[in-house]
Amino acid sequence: QGNPRTFFITGGAGFIGSAVVRELIAHTQHNVINVDKLTYAGNLESHSNIEHSERHTFVQADICDAATMQRLFQKHQPDVVMHLAAESHVDRSIDGPAEFIQTNVVGTSVLLEVARAYWKSLQTSAPDKAAGFRFHHISTDEVYGDLEGPEGLFTEQTPYAPSSPYSASKASSDHLVRAWQRTYGLPTLITNCSNNYGPYHFPEKLIPLMILNALAGKPLPVYGNGQQIRDWLFVEDHARALVQVATQGEIGETYNIGGRNEKTNLEVVHTLCDLLQELVPKDTRYRDLITFVKDRPGHDLRYAIDARKIERELGWVPQETFETGLRKTVQWYLANESWWQRVQDGSYQGERLGASA
Ligand code: NAD
Repeated sequence: QGNPRTFFITGGAGFIGSAVVRELIAHTQHNVINVDKLTYAGNLESHSNIEHSERHTFVQADICDAATMQRLFQKHQPDVVMHLAAESHVDRSIDGPAEFIQTNVVGTSVLLEVARAYWKSLQTSAPDKAAGFRFHHISTDEVYGDLEGPEGLFTEQTPYAPSSPYSASKASSDHLVRAWQRTYGLPTLITNCSNNYGPYHFPEKLIPLMILNALAGKPLPVYGNGQQIRDWLFVEDHARALVQVATQGEIGETYNIGGRNEKTNLEVVHTLCDLLQELVPKDTRYRDLITFVKDRPGHDLRYAIDARKIERELGWVPQETFETGLRKTVQWYLANESWWQRVQDGSYQGERLGASA
C-alpha cells in the first residue's frame, strides 16, 4: 500500500464511484477527495458506513467547471485522480444526448487540462510528487460496440465501434485521455469494464429494477427477446481492480476488466426470479411477471471481456461468481429497503444541499 496518498475521485457519489470510495476508506490508509455534482444518480446515502471517516472529504462540484476544478487541485494536491463522473444510462442518452456530450466529453477534457497544468507545476515545485502522479480514466466495454455471434472477446486491441450516444461519448473521452498521454506525456491509465451490478445500484438499471419490480408485484420488462448477452461483474470486484490499476498499473496502459460471466438478459432475470422465490417465497411465480417490451434502438447484442491482461499483470481476480454476487445483491436490497425507498420517492435528493465547492 505504501504511504497514504490523496485520491481525487470524480463521481464518487455514484454506483461504482461510491464503491471505490468505500474500498479506499475501508481497506487502505489513503485520503479521498470525493467530487460529485450530485445529479439524479449521485447519492450521499451510499456513503453511510464511512461518512464519519476523517479521510473522506465530499465536495459538490461540476467537473465541467474548470475554475472550481483548478481550485480543488490546488487546495487538495492530489497524487491520484480516478475519473468516474459521467452520465451513464444508455436509455437516457438516447432520449437526450447533450448532457452526455457535456459531462463525458467536455467534462473529461476540462479535467485533463486542469490535471496537466497541475502536474506541470508539480514538476518544478515537487518533482517527486509529479513523478508519482497518475490520472486514471474509468470507462466501459461498450466503446467496442458489440460482438457478432457467440465467439470472441473484447481485448485491449479491439477497435472502437460505439453504438449509442452514451458509448460514443465514452469512446470520445478515452481518445482524449490517450491523446493527452501521447501529446503531453500526462501519466494516464484507462480501464474498460463490463456491466457492473451490486449494492447501491440506482433502480433504473436492469438488476435492481427487476428486484424491486418483482418485490412490488409489478411487470418485469425485458427488451426484445431478452437474448442480448452481457458480461457481469460484482461492483466490489470492480472497485478493487480500479484501486489496483490506479496504484500499480503501468502508465499509458489500458486494462480490460470483466467477470467471465456472460449471461443473456433473460437468464439474469430468471436467476433473479428464482433467488427471490427462495428468499421471499410467494404463492405466485415471480417468473410470471416477465413481459417482453419493444427493443431499444441500436441495442448491442453481445459484450464479453477478455480480462487476462489485468489478471496476468496485476494478479487481480474477481472474488464473486455471478451466483454468489447476485445472491449478495438481492440480500442487500432486501436488507436496505430504506436506501431504495428514499431513491424511489426522491427524498435522497434532500441531502444534496450540504457541502459545496
Ligand atoms: P452513476 O451514474 O451511478 O454515477 C455517476 C456519478 O457521476 C453520479 O454520482 C453523478 O452525480 C456524477 N456526475 C455526473 N455528472 C457530473 C458532473 N458533470 N460533474 C461531477 N459529477 C458528475 O455511474 P456508474 O455506474 O457509477 O459509472 C461510473 C463510471 O464507470 C462511468 O464513467 C461509467 O461510464 C463507467 N462504467 C460503468 C459501468 C456500469 O456497469 N455501471 C461499467 C463500466 C464502466
